[in-house]
Amino acid sequence: MSLKVWAVSESPDVANEVAAAAAALASSAGARVTVVGFDGTASMLTGDDKLILKGALPIAGSPELAAEALAFASKDAKPDVILVGSTRNGKEIAARVTVKLGTSCMTDLFGISVAEGALRAKRNAFAGRLIADVSIPLPCVATVKAGTYASQPPSAAAGAQKDVGVLSPKARLIERREKPKGTVDLKGAKLIVSAGRGVKKKEDLALINDLASELDGAVGCSRPLSSDMGWLPEEHHIGLTGISVHPDLYLAVGISGQLQHVAGIKDSKIIASINNDKSAPIFEASDYGVVGDLYAVLPAMLKELKARRH
Ligand SMILES: Cc1cc2nc3c(=O)[nH]c(=O)nc-3n(C[C@H](O)[C@H](O)[C@H](O)COP(=O)(O)OP(=O)(O)OC[C@H]3O[C@@H](n4cnc5c(N)ncnc54)[C@H](O)[C@@H]3O)c2cc1C
Repeated sequence: MSLKVWAVSESPDVANEVAAAAAALASSAGARVTVVGFDGTASMLTGDDKLILKGALPIAGSPELAAEALAFASKDAKPDVILVGSTRNGKEIAARVTVKLGTSCMTDLFGISVAEGALRAKRNAFAGRLIADVSIPLPCVATVKAGTYASQPPSAAAGAQKDVGVLSPKARLIERREKPKGTVDLKGAKLIVSAGRGVKKKEDLALINDLASELDGAVGCSRPLSSDMGWLPEEHHIGLTGISVHPDLYLAVGISGQLQHVAGIKDSKIIASINNDKSAPIFEASDYGVVGDLYAVLPAMLKELKARRH
């Protein structure tokens, strides 16, 4: 009997990306892939084999209901692997459905295959410095690392519908409020000048701002400057727990280069750094480095840039 793999997400776009991961797995293990969506999303999903779960309430926006619906539908279909998109809601769906089915779960996987009754995959460890080979027995639930598989185009297949009936959520949405839009777009920035704890006072951030504006770049920072000192809003914080950036040039100023910070900048085309400690780990991650006092280097750079402009 061939293996049954479900590709699931509350977002049709992400479901179509997960479907690509499932298809790669299917070609190695001879599996049958079903793309599972919620509510009325059939026309937005890829693949020949679709399953749309519908209930008395909209399901897609509630990880609790999505997990209930998946657990309900799994009882008959008994998928061997449920692959879920690694979105914020997707991770919650995966955790909830794992508990409901009494099975096991791994998150943020890529290079997924099946062998000897187990799901095998790769997973970043230590903020992306290592790749771990992992394996969990079937049946299982797993989330697929975002952006590792190309999303498949939607197909015309109507698929099957399953009514999951009346699901009653324990959590109730009281209000939905827009997060205030920030002024920086670090994700799209081509050049970022980023400040670390080498900057001694909040007022000294003027040096960073001046350099960023002279270079037409955006301002970023290490976590202590936003989370601990509150000198910059959270949206400037780059790293494992902040934003991941991929500019053409990332200029780290007074940043030591701990792995939690480097995890967010490693996809930059060029990393350059200014640090007065020649053994600072940021130099290992950098293409160019200046060993020097930022309070001497930045004014010199600004002077030179301004002179070139006039
Ligand atoms: C679970 C967890 C998640 C985390 N997530 C993140 C994250 O997402 N992003 C993040 O940034 N951090 C994160 N951190 C914190 C991280 O471990 C480091 O503590 C932080 O990145 C250090 O910030 P920093 O480099 O600015 O400061 P420091 O480590 O204090 O480094 C300051 C650097 O400035 C240099 N310096 C000092 N004076 C000068 C000068 N005058 N001129 C030039 N250089 C100078 C020093 O030599 C030093 O290298 C996380 C930590 C944990 C535990």
